[in-house]
Formats: sequence, structure tokens, C-alpha cells
Amino acid sequence: MSDSEHWSIQDSAALYGLDRWGDPYFSINGRGHISVQPQGDRGGSLDLVDLVSELKSRNLALPLLIRFDDILEDRLERLHAVFERAIAQYSYPGRYQGVFPVKCNQQRHVVEELVSCGKRWNFGLEAGSKAELLIALSLLDDPEALLICNGYKDRLYIETAILARRLGRQPVVVIEQPDEVDRIIEASKSLGAAPYIGVRAKLSSRSTGRWGSSVGDKAKFGLSIPELLETVERLRDNNLLQDLRLLHFHIGSQINDIAVLKDALQEAGQIYVELNRLGAPMGFLDVGGGLGIDYDGSRTASSASTNYSLQNYANDVVATVRECCEPNGVAVPTLVSESGRAIASHFSLLVFDILGSSALPASIPNARGDEPLTVRNLRDTLATIQELSATADAQLVRLQEAWNDALKFKQDALAAFRLGYMGLPDRGTAEQLTWACADAISKRLPKDQAIPEELAALSKALAGTYYANLSIFRSAPDTWAIDQLFPVVPIQKLDQRPTRLANLADLTCDSDGRLDSFIGDGQPKQLLELHELDSENPYLIGLFLSGAYQEVMGNLHNLFGTTNAVHIRLSSGGSYRIDHVVRGDTNADVLEAMEHDPRALLERLRVAAEAAINNGQLRIDESRRLLDHLESSLRQTTYLQD
Ligand SMILES: *Cc1c(COP(=O)(O)O)cnc(C)c1O
Repeated sequence: MSDSEHWSIQDSAALYGLDRWGDPYFSINGRGHISVQPQGDRGGSLDLVDLVSELKSRNLALPLLIRFDDILEDRLERLHAVFERAIAQYSYPGRYQGVFPVKCNQQRHVVEELVSCGKRWNFGLEAGSKAELLIALSLLDDPEALLICNGYKDRLYIETAILARRLGRQPVVVIEQPDEVDRIIEASKSLGAAPYIGVRAKLSSRSTGRWGSSVGDKAKFGLSIPELLETVERLRDNNLLQDLRLLHFHIGSQINDIAVLKDALQEAGQIYVELNRLGAPMGFLDVGGGLGIDYDGSRTASSASTNYSLQNYANDVVATVRECCEPNGVAVPTLVSESGRAIASHFSLLVFDILGSSALPASIPNARGDEPLTVRNLRDTLATIQELSATADAQLVRLQEAWNDALKFKQDALAAFRLGYMGLPDRGTAEQLTWACADAISKRLPKDQAIPEELAALSKALAGTYYANLSIFRSAPDTWAIDQLFPVVPIQKLDQRPTRLANLADLTCDSDGRLDSFIGDGQPKQLLELHELDSENPYLIGLFLSGAYQEVMGNLHNLFGTTNAVHIRLSSGGSYRIDHVVRGDTNADVLEAMEHDPRALLERLRVAAEAAINNGQLRIDESRRLLDHLESSLRQTTYLQD
């Protein structure tokens, strides 16, 4: 970061980590705006600020979810490209055939887009419930593509999968619980046909991180080794062993450490070989999800990052499986992965506006002749601090002394106020001067020394709050539920030095409704560098890499509904087209979701207004105005309008 007054877009790229997590889709252009390259390295870019303002003029109010379908396609291509490269490099005599886990983003346009872009690789879908199975069955029409059926299964689910095979689909029913095998046997007998069958193994390899409990003996899903052997025998006894085609494992989402994956791959590879020996034809090894995203760009095994690249991942899968199969004379399987987060995170980005900010008063009140002693003491302390140059050696000790003095004088002022010796204006002045001291101290803290905790806490205490037009419970629920970090970056003014430190408060009345942890260089930081607000231009912030899981986990806290969403495709000549607009919930929609009838609510208010008119408390034109406002708000989104 440059120390001079000069600030460049490179400084911003480093500060917000854009050059670490944004590549190749997000960068900063010469106007200091975020620029989006939806097709990655293949060229073409859009100025995000211009795009948002043009979308706004089409009546698409903020907060706005922008989905770049080109990015979705590019991610899909990259995933296939790394597997193709690994297969070539390790001369793997088999292929890769992925599926998208629908639970990661069930939105119709998203699933449709993936199915249509994925055709050239016979890319398939994974379903974890009956509703997801319905989506997958109906949208996936490629007879070569796999339809992996996971999750709890009743008879209906299994029969649906069996019949889908007759429709020309390739459903694989994955046995995840010991009792499912009997249901499969029964259903196959009654329909006279069997589904393709898979088994999910409970691996003993331990994962780390948040989803570590998805593996091991206590995992919710999967068969232990004795159960696996028992299942094979049950299938054999019922003439279904020839339909056992796939071994599946899933060691949890966002694998941070590649070493964990390697262990799991080795264990699963050996199980695959054994299943072959037991007489199952097999053919597919499904390595589940877990392919992680480097949210903070630090390339470490910490929870917001991964210590491997896409290519490392594919290489390990391909090489390890080959190493397990070849010495045992077992034909290598078609490799399947169920990567959700890795495909769907980048393409979707939420842009919201800042409604205002609060901060401690920055100005220093003018001195009056008759100020009490404590106030004059505070002025002297401030002057002492201001005289310290930013480089002096014994600086830290003197700053600490000055802060102790300031706190003492502030306490004196409070005591004087409580006892009735000081008026409210003087108390106000004393507080303002104390904050001015804190501000002056925090600006003089040396950058290359350990700072005492108390002084380090000053910048945090001085930080402001920026009020954001969004609900994190709706749009970024994982920040609240599991402390997930997403890159949060102002999308304009990136050629200017950000001079404010703040966290973000959302619209809900919940004190948890804030963003106060941001990606740093390795360690998360509690405050985000932001620019001064000006009254002329909106200040827009982007929440990036949020395409996976957030939409469906989001909830209606305080009745903030879904935001407007648009699907953008780059078109020739540097322009774009809007493929779909998905309107956000209106106030009427969210009321109805809670079983209220908006019309009945309005009618009750109309009756109340009539009564108020009759007893002279409300004029007729006021009543009409009130009811007009209420009616139009029913048609509007749940967020604040500008
Ligand atoms: C959630 C889940 C996935 C997707 O995991 P990602 O980490 O998003 O890739 C894949 N398979 C199963 C069985 C899952 O439960």
C-alpha cells in the first residue's frame, strides 16, 4: 500500500484482495470502477457501475442480484478443462463426467443454464430430495448424463428413479442408509426393473474445517464397511449386484486442505477395487463435492481459503484413482464429481447501496472563554498529541500516556455532570474532544511495532457504521450462520484512498444483522476500508462469490424478501443482453407467505381511516394519501427505494 497521498487502482486491488480472488472475472478499470470480465480470459468486459445504473433505469431497484451466466459457463468449462488436462497428463484410460448438486442453487434459470451449457460433456445433476429429483428429471434430457439420487429415500423416490430409467434417463440411486437396500429390492421386484445402484461409503479419513463431521463413524450418511459388505450380499442374493455401478463419498463442503482429500481418495480407491473383487460391475467413482473456493485469495488451508487450485484437485483425483486400480488389475472408473460451490460461487454478485453512515463527530468544537477545567485539560491533551510527529521513537509511550490522561479527564467531566456542576453542552464538548484525541492517536500509531491492545482497540472504537440496503439473513445468511466470509468491495471510487473504517449494518432490526468480518490477507479483519459518502452519487457495494447456497438458505427475517435478480450475457460489440429478469418479492408477497391477506389488512385500515374522518381526526385527503401509500407499498419490493 502506498504511503503517499497518491492512491492508485493497484492499491485498491491489493487492499480488497481483487488480484487474489477476483481473477479472471473481476478487476478495476481506469475509472476506478469494478470491471467484470464475464468470459474470463477470452476478453470482453463490462463496467459494473454503468451496468447497475442502466439496470436501475429499467426500474430494477437495488439491492440487485446480478447473475453472469457467462461466468457460470466459464467455471463449468474450467472444471472440465482441468480434468481433461489431468487425464491426459496421467494417461488415465477413462473419463470425467460431473454432475451439479441441485441443492447448491435450485433457481430454474441456473439449473437450465448448467444443463444446456453442460451438454457437450454429458454433464448431469445430483438430487437430494424428491423435489430436487423432480427438477433434475424434468430438466435433464441428455440420455448420457448421470442423475445421481442422494438423500433420504422412501419407496416413492426409489420407484420414481426406476421408472425414470425407462424414460431414457440414467438415474443412480445411491444407498446411504443400511435400510435403503431393502426398499430398493422391494421396489425392483414390484416394478420388475431395477435402477442403477450406487453405495455411499462412510470413510474413516477425517476432514478438517467446518464440515469435518460429514465423515467418520458418526457421519449422518453413508455405510460403514460392515454395512457395505452386508449391502453387497443383499444385492447379490436378490440378483441386483449387476446393477451396482457407483461408489460415492462426500467428505463435506469447502475442503480447505488437499491432504484430507488425498487420504479420502486413497481409501475410496481401495474400496472401489474391493467392490470389483466382490463381483459388482461398477464403472463410476463419485468423489462428491467439497471442491473449495479461495474466498480470501490467501491460498492457505484456513476456512476461507484452499491450499490447492482446481488443477491440483483434478490431478489428485485422477492420479490417486489410477494408482489404486492399476496395480490391482481393475479397470479405472469414470470419475464423477458433485462440485457445487466451485461451479456456482463466482457467477452471482449482489450489489447494494449505502443509505447513510454514522460515525463519531469528527470536528473539534470551538473553544469558549468560560470552559470548565476538565474541558480545557482535554484541549491541552489534544494539542500535546497533535505535536507528536508520526515518526518519533518514544512515541508509543507518549501516546499511551496521552490516552490515559484523556480518559481521566473524560471521567472527571462525567462526574461533574452527574453532580450537577457541568451542563449538557460542556459534557458534549468533553466527549467530542475525547474522540478527537482517540482519532489523533490512532493516526499516529506506528505501523511497524506491536501496539498495546488498548490503543489498538481505538481504531475499532472510532470506526463508523455504514447502513446497507439489504438483509444479510436474506442475501448472505452464511455470514451470520457460520461466519462465512465473502469479498465485500465498493464498486466505485477505487482510484481514491478510502479514508473511513466501518462495518456494515443491514436493514433488519436484529443486532446480528451486520457484516463485521471481512477478508484480509490471511486473517479476517473486523473493519472495512470505505470511502466518504457524498450526497451526489450513490455509494454501491458488491458482495462477491455468493452464488452458492445463499439464495435458498436466505430467510424472511423482518419480512425482507428476495431481491430483484437479472441474468446478464455478454453480447458482441462489448455490449450485454438481459436474458431473464426475476422480480424480487413485493411486500404483498411476503405478507402472504405468513398467511396474511394484504387486501384484508388494507380493508381494516380503510375502516379505521373512515372512523378517524368521522370523528374529525383525519381529513379525507390525508386518508386517501395514507391508503395510497399503503397500497403502492404492497406492490413494491421490501427494500428501501431511492
Ligand atoms: C452438498 C453436497 C455436495 C456439494 O458440495 P460442494 O461443496 O458445494 O461442492 C455434493 N454432494 C453431496 C452428497 C452433498 O451433500
